[in-house]
Amino acid sequence: MFKQSKQVKPAAPKGKAVKRVYFFGPGNQTEGKADMKDLLGGKGANLADMTTAGLPVPAGFTITTDTCGDYNDAGQVLPASLMAEVRANIAKVEKATGKKFGDAKNPLLLAARSGAKFSMPGMMDTVLNIGLNDAAVDGLAKLSGNERFAYDSYRRLINMFGDTVMGVDHHHFEHELSAVKADRGVELDTDLDTDGLKEVVARYKKVYKDHVGSDFPSDGLQQLEAAIEAVFKSWMGERAIKYREINDIRGVRGTAVNVQAMVFGNMGDDSATGVAFTRDPSTGENVFYGEFLVNAQGEDVVAGIRTPLDCKTEMAKWSVKSWKELLEVKKKLETRYRDVQDFEFTIEKGKLYMLQTRNGKRTAQAAVRIAVEMAKEKLITKEEGILRVEPSSLDQLLHPTFDPKADKTVIATGLPASPGAAVGKIAFTAEEAEQRVAQGEKIILVRRETEPADIGGMHVAEGILTSTGGMTSHAAVVARGMGTPCVAGAGMVHIDAAARTLKIAGKTYGPDDYISLDGGKSPAGEVYEGQVPTVDAALTGAFAQIMKWADEFRTLKVRTNADTPHDADVARNFGAEGIGLTRTEHMFFDPERIHNMREMILAGAADVEGRKKALAKLLPYQREDFIGIFKAMKGLPVTIRLLDPPLHEFLPHNEKDQKALGDSLGLSLEAVKQRVQQLHESNPMLGHRGDRLAVTYPEILEMQVRAIIEAAVATKKAGIKCLPEIMIPLAGTKAELDYLKKITIDTAEAVFKETKTRVEYMYGTMIEVPRAAVTADELAQTAEFFSFGTNDLTQMTFGYSRDDAGVFLPEYIKKEILERDPFQSLDVGGVGKLVDMAVKLGRGVKPDLKCGICGEHGGDPRSVEFCHNVGLNYVSCSPFRVPIARLAAAHAAIKAKQAPAKSAKSAKPAAKASKPAAKIAKPKAKAKAKRK
Ligand code: ADP
Ligand code: MG
Ligand code: MG
Repeated sequence: MFKQSKQVKPAAPKGKAVKRVYFFGPGNQTEGKADMKDLLGGKGANLADMTTAGLPVPAGFTITTDTCGDYNDAGQVLPASLMAEVRANIAKVEKATGKKFGDAKNPLLLAARSGAKFSMPGMMDTVLNIGLNDAAVDGLAKLSGNERFAYDSYRRLINMFGDTVMGVDHHHFEHELSAVKADRGVELDTDLDTDGLKEVVARYKKVYKDHVGSDFPSDGLQQLEAAIEAVFKSWMGERAIKYREINDIRGVRGTAVNVQAMVFGNMGDDSATGVAFTRDPSTGENVFYGEFLVNAQGEDVVAGIRTPLDCKTEMAKWSVKSWKELLEVKKKLETRYRDVQDFEFTIEKGKLYMLQTRNGKRTAQAAVRIAVEMAKEKLITKEEGILRVEPSSLDQLLHPTFDPKADKTVIATGLPASPGAAVGKIAFTAEEAEQRVAQGEKIILVRRETEPADIGGMHVAEGILTSTGGMTSHAAVVARGMGTPCVAGAGMVHIDAAARTLKIAGKTYGPDDYISLDGGKSPAGEVYEGQVPTVDAALTGAFAQIMKWADEFRTLKVRTNADTPHDADVARNFGAEGIGLTRTEHMFFDPERIHNMREMILAGAADVEGRKKALAKLLPYQREDFIGIFKAMKGLPVTIRLLDPPLHEFLPHNEKDQKALGDSLGLSLEAVKQRVQQLHESNPMLGHRGDRLAVTYPEILEMQVRAIIEAAVATKKAGIKCLPEIMIPLAGTKAELDYLKKITIDTAEAVFKETKTRVEYMYGTMIEVPRAAVTADELAQTAEFFSFGTNDLTQMTFGYSRDDAGVFLPEYIKKEILERDPFQSLDVGGVGKLVDMAVKLGRGVKPDLKCGICGEHGGDPRSVEFCHNVGLNYVSCSPFRVPIARLAAAHAAIKAKQAPAKSAKSAKPAAKASKPAAKIAKPKAKAKAKRK
């Protein structure tokens, strides 16, 4: 859990030549491989691999991610040898294409593209058409016989270079473009003729000079070098850093740069550019899913400037040949990569080129369907199918959907860009969304189109609504990745961000209005007025199938934490195999019951009879609750934890309630106050709670055990099996357990005698204080099962108060002192070591000792894997996380089988984790020695 020294590899030692550039191109010259993603980034490795596979990729080369790391480490200076290596590789590209970089007659143009190990959509910038200048543009015009195209490419270069490399805001260029279009009375970029584009170029050059202070560089190599640097710099840009933070991407040194021969989708009406998925990333359906634009270049498709065409319905009308080729590509890609691919292509004068492929991001719904169908198609194995679905992503499928019976007023429709139901108030900027969510509001982010800078606001929003852009627009892609419902391109929505209004069909909505949206509605996503009620999710179709497969592989059982029959029901429907934790105190907060509870607490410390009287009133309630839960669980084991929290938590803390309580019990306000005062503890988490309550007031334990056993007897008499497991919280010594066990047995025996019925039950303990873990061999002599309460065990192992850690833990995470929040994901190296030890000690005494976990960690996939590896019998988590835990348990079992050596290691995490401590200790010791 503690961060070890940065995993980042240092650069190669000085003086030793490092290979920084890897070529890809025709004739077996390709130097990169698919598995070199660390060094070449995802895009670079796959460009090399597609080339090797014989797919039509324009020649080029990849500059390594280490070079980016070295560049930033050196204070943003390019390694001395780099540009020479780049020049040598440009020569290879020249040979492959028969063109010359910097040539006026037959110019080679280049694209400089970023590409890190993990795809970071839209995070870093691409510069196209590098190498153009006033001379080359004429050469290109003559060569292509298309002057318009040449100038279109040129104006794009000046714009992209000015914007991404030199930081001239895009809108300055946009402004000039609009002005020229207006002057000439045209609407679309494609309607501008050659003269118009020449004027745009002239104006762009002026914009460039006005803002940069020098002329647009005409030297191609100079353009390229600056572009490479810009890509490297963007790695350390705010947006990229934030993206890595949100997606937990660590230990990666930098991005690669891919330099590649340009191919042109803007060479005329027989040229096009597009993006596609080999299957529908929203639903998972096995259909070609893509969009293209005729006579366009680069990001035109995703920028939402022109509305792209659907390949499936439109491409054959445009070119049957290209459509057939793309369907072939779909097949080839899926066979080679055995997963859904998200790819980019360009068609230059009818010839298809592949520019990128990667595993496609998909919604959880699609992930499940794709995994199941690919396994059924025998493209992948069942195990692979299971591993393809990220357990935590199931959360999206467990979320509610809109109640089909609810009255809905559709106020707008758009593209169903990311499925799910979302309800919230309207925010008009990402910042506003972040602020309002921080204040506890539920927000729908509404934008014309989102951009990378909006990522923070998109992350916290319930849903996203845009008025322009297609299925592959930024909003759509990012929302799908995040699992946030999104309706995109709802053209009838008019957004005025400055006025903070949204106008739809003459009606105006503001920041205090609720809207609801359904991003999975087919054929169009829908937006509704107000708050539409939702209904719970069901486990059906492919989801049910993958869960069934998961159950075939997992060995770890999954239980649930449930305090009510309703929770128990929900969990059983999600596949829970028992209850791992019923918190009895939750049963006392009901208005009628809390009164009796308070009466019990207010009885003076010595007033045993008073307490018993109040407890007797609580008994029937408890019994009824247990009967309800036992019946809901139909014979599955139910672990019931006896009263745990400090008593003062049940008492009223304001004078009004205190007086009312006193009145009803015939006590003065003063007396009530005094008792509340008495019960006050300076450190309640370590105070009079847990089994300490039972040790001091055994009558509480008696009442609870009686309620449990009576309920079990009643359930049995009703013809339903039940298996109660009585669990003692917070025990730290065998003697405590012995003392309480005797009372438990006596109470149970009394009930058996009274009812002339016997039921089975178990007596066990939680392991939540370190002493319990350390002396587990002793505790196991008395306890019949262990349940690790890892919330408290984490609190006490770290000494971090659960209630106060929010103040400092975020800093620990930010400064990478802790890798993650130990209350969310089990600290394998420390807390896990105690768990591992306790299991071993306990089973040394009782080989069949049942061990489980009931902390929040039971639903955290990473922690579930750990639980599998240390040999726990079950994990227990909240009802909605049961499917997640089932799938995570299957992952753990499959991974352990696939790499037995590895999993044995992770079962003994202690050795690994103790290293950094030793490392830290050393310099300290030295320092001390010195001071002496
Ligand atoms: P991103 O990571 O943002 O997708 P890319 O490096 O893929 O960035 O480039 C963005 C777009 O630029 C691509 O979708 C493609 O349309 C265009 N592009 C990239 N390389 C080339 C090339 N060699 N020829 C023509 N267009 C290209
Ligand atoms: Mg980009
Ligand atoms: Mg791309």
